[in-house]
Order: sequence, then C-alpha cells, then structure tokens
Amino acid sequence: MDIETKVWETLCSEEDIVRRTAELGKQISEDYKDKKLFVISLLKGSFIFTADLVRKIDIPVKLGFMTTSSYGHSEESSGKINVLADINDDVEGYDILVVDDITDSALTMSFVMNHLKSKNPASIKCCVLLDKPVRRKVDLVPDYVGFEIDDKFVVGYGLNYGDYYRNVPYVFNVTNQDR
Ligand code: 5GP
Ligand code: MG
Repeated sequence: MDIETKVWETLCSEEDIVRRTAELGKQISEDYKDKKLFVISLLKGSFIFTADLVRKIDIPVKLGFMTTSSYGHSEESSGKINVLADINDDVEGYDILVVDDITDSALTMSFVMNHLKSKNPASIKCCVLLDKPVRRKVDLVPDYVGFEIDDKFVVGYGLNYGDYYRNVPYVFNVTNQDR
C-alpha cells in the first residue's frame, strides 16, 4: 500500500502529546521522588517519546537503551522476541521504568521486563505512549499509559511504516480512503 495516496487520520495531535507527556512526567517525578529512577527506552520506536518524556521529569534520572527484534515490515508480531542490543549499565538497586511506544500483544514488554528483572533492580514498571488492550496475548497492564487506542495500525511520533514516517510529529492511522 502506498500510504502517500491514502487519507491519514490523526489519532493523537502534537498538542495532545505535549499535554499528556507533561502529565506523565509530573506523575512519574512524584512517584519516583525518593527512588533511584532508571529509564530504559526501547529502540527504535520510543526514541521520540522518551526524549520528550524525560524532559518533563524533574528528578535525577539515568537513561539506557535497548533494542529488541520487532515486527520488521509486517504488521503482526512474530511472537518471538530477541534482544538485539542489551543495556550496558549496572541497574542493580535502581528503580527501572521501561519506556516503549506501544503495547499491542504485550509480548515485547513482558519479555523485556522479565529480562531486566534478572539484573536485580529494586523495582520495575513500564510506561507506554499508546496502549491497544484488545490485542493482548499476555496479561500485562502498563503502569503509565499516554493514550488507549482501538485496534488500528498507527504511525508517527517514533512509530514506523516500513522504515519510514517515524519523524511525523503526531500519531496517525492510514485509512483505506484515497486522497
Ligand atoms: P507487542 O509485542 O506488544 O505486540 O508489540 C510491540 C512492538 O510492536 C511495539 O514496540 C511496536 O514497535 C510494534 N507495534 C505494535 N503495534 C504497532 C502499530 O500499530 N504501529 C507500529 N508502527 N508499530 C507497532
Ligand atoms: Mg517497538
């Protein structure tokens, strides 16, 4: 499908995202004020969300990045998760907050949280910009959610279509309608 020829439906505008990210940052700053916050961002999808979110956090925060295998160019998860790049940091005793763009089946988040638990953090929670709860394959409720959305394939603000469109500053859904 050539998405350039289709109508794009905005699901989260730039203004929506700015407002919600500020709310999440404030909440996280309060919840972690007496803790040792260590944000772990899952690449590539959460690079923009993480960058905006941590700038709304006003307590000390350490940052790490991890890459797991993703959908590639397909819209369905293979169900098999691989760690392509692990964090290099010692997180023992830290309060980890895993940040991702979206939870769909939640296979990725559940795998990553189990993987990080083996590194002995003091606690581990997760934060996602978008949540598609109807798509769950494992029982996981994210601790912090930006927006709950319907079962739609979404693009923009870090989320890809093929290898592109991550730089679109809002979240949209490609409709079947021609422009
Ligand atoms: P899950 O393991 O929860 O099924 O999916 C996690 C990963 O799949 C997300 O981090 C994201 O990279 C990708 N993904 C899931 N849903 C969508 C979507 O609607 N659009 C895009 N672009 N990626 C998605
Ligand atoms: Mg991802």
